[in-house]
Order: sequence, then structure tokens, then C-alpha cells
Amino acid sequence: MQGLLLRQLRRLGLDRETPPADVAAWQAFLARVDRAYTDFEDERYTRERSMELVTSEMQDLYASVRIEHERLQELITYLGIGLISVDDRCRIRVANPDARQMLGWDEGDFADECVFTRLDVTGADGTPIALDEVVRTGTATRGVDASFLTRTGERLPVAFVLNSVEKDGRVLGAYLVFNDIRQRKQTEAQMRHARELAEQASRSKSEFVATMSHELGTPLNGVIGMLELLSDSDLDSSQHELLGAAKRSARTLAVIVQDVLDFSRLESGQLLLEPRPTDLRTLAHETLEQSRSAAAAKGITLELDWRAGDLPAALADSARLGQVLHNLVSNAVKFTAKGGVTLTIERAREHESLLDVRFAVRDTGPGIKPELQERLFEKFWQEDGSYSRRHGGTGLGLAICKRLVEAMEGRIGALSAPGEGSTFWFEVSLVRVAPQTESAAPEADDDGPLALDGVRVLVVEDTPVNQKITMRLLERLGCDVELACDGREAFASFRAATFDLVLMDCQMPGMDGYETTTVIRGLEGGRSHVPIVALTANTQPSDRERCAAAGMDDFLAKPIQVRELHRVLRRWLVRRAA
Ligand code: ADP
Repeated sequence: MQGLLLRQLRRLGLDRETPPADVAAWQAFLARVDRAYTDFEDERYTRERSMELVTSEMQDLYASVRIEHERLQELITYLGIGLISVDDRCRIRVANPDARQMLGWDEGDFADECVFTRLDVTGADGTPIALDEVVRTGTATRGVDASFLTRTGERLPVAFVLNSVEKDGRVLGAYLVFNDIRQRKQTEAQMRHARELAEQASRSKSEFVATMSHELGTPLNGVIGMLELLSDSDLDSSQHELLGAAKRSARTLAVIVQDVLDFSRLESGQLLLEPRPTDLRTLAHETLEQSRSAAAAKGITLELDWRAGDLPAALADSARLGQVLHNLVSNAVKFTAKGGVTLTIERAREHESLLDVRFAVRDTGPGIKPELQERLFEKFWQEDGSYSRRHGGTGLGLAICKRLVEAMEGRIGALSAPGEGSTFWFEVSLVRVAPQTESAAPEADDDGPLALDGVRVLVVEDTPVNQKITMRLLERLGCDVELACDGREAFASFRAATFDLVLMDCQMPGMDGYETTTVIRGLEGGRSHVPIVALTANTQPSDRERCAAAGMDDFLAKPIQVRELHRVLRRWLVRRAA
């Protein structure tokens, strides 16, 4: 203050020793003093005001920091999941109440040690998880299912996230967030159990349906076989007509039973494909032949548009591929009143070992409304019940096609518009047959007359209807047939007489066909070998293997197709004799 006064005096040309010379000098001096005082007061006021403002701001800031802190504390406390904060050496800094409650540990329990060691972190598969390593490397671990050791020694199933905290390239620590997943695990186990039960139920249902259709199939085949034999007898024209109607109904019923059987096999995963070298052009012709008379009866055309050029042979399950084709072609013929049906076959793509082939069946039928097209491949779906009454069918055909094509790892679809016909197409990827092993042509069937006069055949069959059919078919060829109704009788007959061939039913009560064959082979002791041909409705590769393992030489699917029977007889009786 004194210094300031002296500076003011000096500015006026005064000092301690030189007082103002006159009144004017005094007045100027006092005016300056007054101004300086006023300035000083102003400044003091401003400073005090700023101080007040700063203090109040500081107080506000402090208050909001306190609120934030409380909120954070609340958040951590009421988070509902466990939160543990650790330092760079994985020592616990904070554990929220949820973490403490879930684990039973207190923050103090871990004192100076790595919290993860105490928690003995173990993955869902039982292997230890080194979380200290995650922290050390400053990385993170997300959504891991694991278990932590609680204070009582139990293992608590948890899902956790561990995030390291880094600053300026230095790891400061990490946050472990975890949740008790006992409930979830329990629900998952219940769901798994429920799914297994549902799958089991579905399998049982499919097995039941498969068994039922199989059981229905046996007498039905008997009916068809008997009707076939009846058509060879002397009948007048009206009896022929009645017989024709009975045959048609029986065949329709057989198709339905076969559809249901196929579908339930596909559903229960029992249907296995048997890829063999296949000539697709022959298959296409054969398929069209099956619908030829139906198309001719309606006066519509049925054509093959072969665009695949010189197609190499490929591995395909010709029976199943033919089934899909036949389904599409027969549907097209069924729904087309005028115009025609064309089957187009072309190469879609070609790779070194694979051949993608596209099949399309185009018709000039009524077409299908766009909104209905999506449902076409659903089981038991038919656009209009009256169609099925008029045309027959189960609504299973396309569902079976879809599943078969998918089993061949292919795709299937339909393009259609009302009034413009429909095109049903599918694409499958077939394995090409290497040229040296190419033997696609089906075994040449010598269709000449088959005469087996005096050839001795033992038929082993327990079902009376099947006995009659098989024996009549063989007798018509001139065979000398002997019947055995079960395995024991077969063995006795075999020991007592000599046979050129044995037809062996596989499923028989008591000693079945497999066991009987094994016993017969034992009796032969390798000194002789009479061909034994299995008769069975189970035609999966595993069934064939079982027949071969029992010592059988060949295989005939039931119901016996005359053509197949002739093929087998030629193979074992005519060619061998030649
Ligand atoms: P279905 O045994 O009834 O023929 P599908 O599964 O083969 O069973 O066919 C289901 C339905 O799809 C048929 O009932 C019919 O409504 C429709 N459909 C199938 N093919 C054709 C087609 N070429 N033209 C018109 N509609 C068709």
C-alpha cells in the first residue's frame, strides 16, 4: 500500500521529502489518490464476486460428482450380475454384493493373491482357463461358459466376460462380469430331454407307420400276385373287366402304401441311397414308358428333350432318381387334359468329378396359383380335394420327391402360372464314373423265353399266399419246385435231395432265412455250393450285406417282380449252365 502511494507521488513529481508545492498540486494529487482508490475498490469487488462464483461452481461440481458417484455405487450394487475389478496382478480391488453373494467370498478373503486362482476358473468341458494370462496380455474374453469355485467348495456354473483396462499401452487391471447360469443350464437340459423325447416319439411314430405299411404291403402283394395269376386263366370278357378293375384298385392301394412307407422311412432316416453307375438316358426313357399308356389314353404327347449331349455315366441311386422322375411325370400327365408333357434333361454345371444335372418336367396343364406354389412340397398337400378324388393320389408324392432330392444333396422347385402349365424341376450333383470302371449299361437282360424244364428249386417261404405265387411263377417256367414252410423243413429237404437253386424267405418264425442259410452252408462244408437267393421286403444296403454275410448269393425284393425273378434265374441257372 505504501509502495503504491509512493509510486503515485513520484508520478506527480513528489516524494517523501518534496511535499506538493501549491493547492493545485495537492488537488491533483488527491484526485489521483481518489481515482486509484476507486479503481482499487472496483477491482476488489470484481475479485470477490469471481471468488464467490468460483466457490459456488465448485460446490455444484462437487455435488454432481457426489451424485454420479452414488449412482455408480448404486449401479454396481444393484447390477444383478457379479462384478469384480482387479489390478494388473489380478488382485481384487472391488467385488460388488452380487459377486460376493454368488461366490460366498469377501473382498478381504483374497488379500494379496490372484483372484482367478482362488476361483479355479474351469471351462464347460472341464479344462482350466488362465484368466491371469488374459489380463497380462491386455486382451478380452467374451461370453464364456465356465464354472467358479465358491467358498463352500461347490462349482458355480457361470457365463462371464473379462475385459482388460489399458492406458498408454500399460495394463491397469481388468473387469470380470459374470452371471449364475444354473437356471439356464437346467432349462437347456430340460429342452434337450424334451427334444430327445420328441425325436424318439417321432421315430417311434415313423417306425410304427413303416411297420404298418409293411404289414399292409404283404397281403396286398398277395392280392396283386393272385390277381395276376388269375388273369392267366380262362375268363370271359366281363370277368376280365372286373379283374382289371380289381387290379387297378389293388395297384392304386399299393402305390399309397408304398408312398406312406417311403415317407416314414425318409422321416425316420431309415432310407439309404444306393448309388450305382447309371445311364441317365435309359432311365429317362424307362420313366417315360411307365406313363406312356396313361398319356396315350388322354391323347396328350409325352416327349424326352435330351439336351445333355453325350453324358458320361454317373453314380446315382437309379431306383430313387427314377421314383422322383416318375412322380413328376405322372403328376404332369395326371393334371394335363390337352397338349403334352416334356421331360428335359441338361447339364447344369460340370466339375472334374461331379456332374450337375437338371431335370425339368414341363406340362400344358392347369398351372398352379403363385400363393399355392410354396405349399406344393408339404406332406399331404393337395390344391383341391376334388382333384385327388378325380385323379387319385395321397398328397405325399412331392413331399417324398423333395426329401429324396435333398437326400441326394440336390434342389427341387416348381415354376407355374394358372393357365400356363407347370414346370417341376430338380438338380442333383452326381459323381462321374471313371472311364475304366464305366459299366453303366444295366446288365443286359436277355428277354428271350426262359425254359427251365426239370430245374429243381427249393422255395422256403412261410406265408401261404407268397408260397402259391412263387411256386406258380416257377412252375410256369417248367421248374420242379419243392416247398419248405420254415427253416427246419428247408434244412431237412436240403439234406434229403439235390437242388439247383434255393429261394429263401428271410423273415420266418423260428429259424429265419439267415440262420437257415448258415446251417445249409455248414452242411455243404465247402464241397458244393447251391445258389441261395434271398427273398425280402427289406432292401436297404445293410439288409443286402446281412444276406451276403449269412452266405446268400443274390437278392430278390418282395413283392417278386416277374422280370427280376427271370433275371436272377438266368444269372444262376442259365448262364452258369452255359
Ligand atoms: P398327389 O398324390 O396328390 O399327386 P403330390 O404331392 O404329387 O400328391 O402333389 C400335390 C399336389 O400338387 C397335387 O394334388 C396338385 O394339386 C399339385 N400338383 C402337382 N403336380 C402338378 C402339376 N403338374 N400341375 C398342377 N398341379 C400339380
